[in-house]
Amino acid sequence: MMFMRACWIVMLWVAVAAAAMAASDFGKALHDADLIRTSDPAKFRRAVEDLDKRAGTATREERQYLRLLDAYSMILAGEFDGSIRELTVLLAQGPDADLKVRAGALLVNVYAMTRDFAEGLRTLDDLLSVVDSAKDKDARQQGLLAATLIYNQVGQYHLGQQYADRVLADAPGERYLCMASNMRLESLQGQGKALADEAYVEAATRCQEIGEPIAANLVRSYLARKWFDEGKVDAAIGLLAGHLDEVHATGYRYLISEFNALLAKFRLSRGDVALAEYNAKVAIEHQDGFQTSLPLSVAYMVLYSIAQKRGDAAAALVYYRRYAEADKAYLNETKAREIAYQIVQSETKAQAQQIELLNRENQLLQLQHGISVQKAQTSRLLILLLVVLVGTVSYWALKTKRMQMSLRRMAETDALTSVCNRHYFNQQSVQTLAHAARAGEDVALVMFDLDHFKSINDRFGHDTGDWVLKRVSDHCRTFCRRVDHFGRIGGEEFAILLSGCDLRGARRVAEDCRVRIASIDSQASGHKFLITASFGVTASSLSGYDLAKLLSHADKALYRSKRQGRNRVSTFDGDVQPWTQLQVVAIESLSTPGGPPAPEEAPDHRPFQNLIS
Ligand code: GH3
Ligand code: MG
Ligand code: MG
Repeated sequence: MMFMRACWIVMLWVAVAAAAMAASDFGKALHDADLIRTSDPAKFRRAVEDLDKRAGTATREERQYLRLLDAYSMILAGEFDGSIRELTVLLAQGPDADLKVRAGALLVNVYAMTRDFAEGLRTLDDLLSVVDSAKDKDARQQGLLAATLIYNQVGQYHLGQQYADRVLADAPGERYLCMASNMRLESLQGQGKALADEAYVEAATRCQEIGEPIAANLVRSYLARKWFDEGKVDAAIGLLAGHLDEVHATGYRYLISEFNALLAKFRLSRGDVALAEYNAKVAIEHQDGFQTSLPLSVAYMVLYSIAQKRGDAAAALVYYRRYAEADKAYLNETKAREIAYQIVQSETKAQAQQIELLNRENQLLQLQHGISVQKAQTSRLLILLLVVLVGTVSYWALKTKRMQMSLRRMAETDALTSVCNRHYFNQQSVQTLAHAARAGEDVALVMFDLDHFKSINDRFGHDTGDWVLKRVSDHCRTFCRRVDHFGRIGGEEFAILLSGCDLRGARRVAEDCRVRIASIDSQASGHKFLITASFGVTASSLSGYDLAKLLSHADKALYRSKRQGRNRVSTFDGDVQPWTQLQVVAIESLSTPGGPPAPEEAPDHRPFQNLIS
């Protein structure tokens, strides 16, 4: 029954989809083939075969459309597996929405024909999710009708009715109007809803008018059943008998079987045994091949009743058995269809639950992602804050350190000459002396005082005096090693503590300094004058390791240099004797005219103990 029904629907589908393709030769050929699909199936099949051979020149869309026609062609040849394969491949290629809906609708039909209702319903699920995206009205309505068809078949008549209603509300063309009305009546009948006779008559007339006798007579079969149920048995017989020839002329086995089975049943109820028997046998002859149709069981029931009436127990038994088999098969299939629906329903529910679960998981993941992003942002901010903090702290630490260092330098060095100030010189020297005393190392001290410095200040100004102090420091510093300490211990008095140096070495250093000072060219100060200094030298071998004593002894020697004419080096000898007169170069004579006078009086030299503080 279903095979015929589904086939009938497929044959009715309007061939318009290829219209848009008619631009190219191949497209036009496709369109032409599609147009003769229902009117001349044999020619259509040949046309499709021919197109298959020329497919190399076709566009992608044309090849996809040809695949749909191939599937139609296979259905006509009863090659359902092949058509399922073609349609599955086509759908997997992701064709445009219209073709997708057409292919989906056809696939649902094929599954209905092959009674694979579960697969049909699964395919329908996919189809319904895209059916509204089809721009072509026919494609859309094919999709909706496929839904009506399969829902009616699995006994979900209320759903079948819903989709038929959607087609009817979408201003269908006359063919779809015929199909939708027809199937809607089937849905209503399935739900036990009786309609006014006019509705059936109108639907039958509509289908008849567009040359669809199968559809028209299916409607008449519904009306005949209704009348029979209402007790209008003669009217029902009259309706069916009046169109029986027309039904035979269609060649549709299911419809022929259905009409004859109903006639057999109705006539038997009227006691018209001969005709009832005839109709029952014709119904059986035209069974659709699946042995599961309702007309078959009705026909066997009629034959069984007749045999019984005749007292033909053997025949009655045979017919009853066949009736029971057909009825059982029919009921089994009906049950199987309902089960298929339930299976797909629960699959869909499970899928929906899974989707819901996935959605929740997704939400959770999104939330987690959000939190991670926030965490990452917070971490970044914290890191940034930390970097800024560390930067600021480091900056301030560095600044403080620099300030400390600068303060320390300021506290340790003489601002004018950048050599150690007196305090720092003393501090360093005391440490060095203590260490040298422990190690038994030689240490020497050189002291010098600029000669007639006051006179320089007086004659050339204090700035020039400062300039001299800086130059003298710069020059003498070059004779000091890292281990030595060079300090400005008074206004124009300097001292050098030489580590690991004996008296002789110290004397040499003093002499080098003296010569270097005397060689300073004063011109750079803007004035011409002579710069000299008087030196006093002592060493640990003479004075021990006490700084006060060393300074005092060096000062004594220095004083001697002053007394003996300045610009010379004297060594402390305990007796305050000149170091060596021969080596002392008296260079007062080198003084430029107007240079600092050599004062006769003893220099103002305070006792050196005062220097140590
Ligand atoms: P003598 O040869 O006997 O040492 O004579 P003198 O003039 O060098 O010695 P005196 O002690 O009479 O003069 C020292 C002068 O040094 C007095 C002071 O004005 C000057 N003086 C001290 N400190 C500075 C300073 O920082 N800058 C300048 N320009 N002069 C200074
Ligand atoms: Mg002095
Ligand atoms: Mg002086």
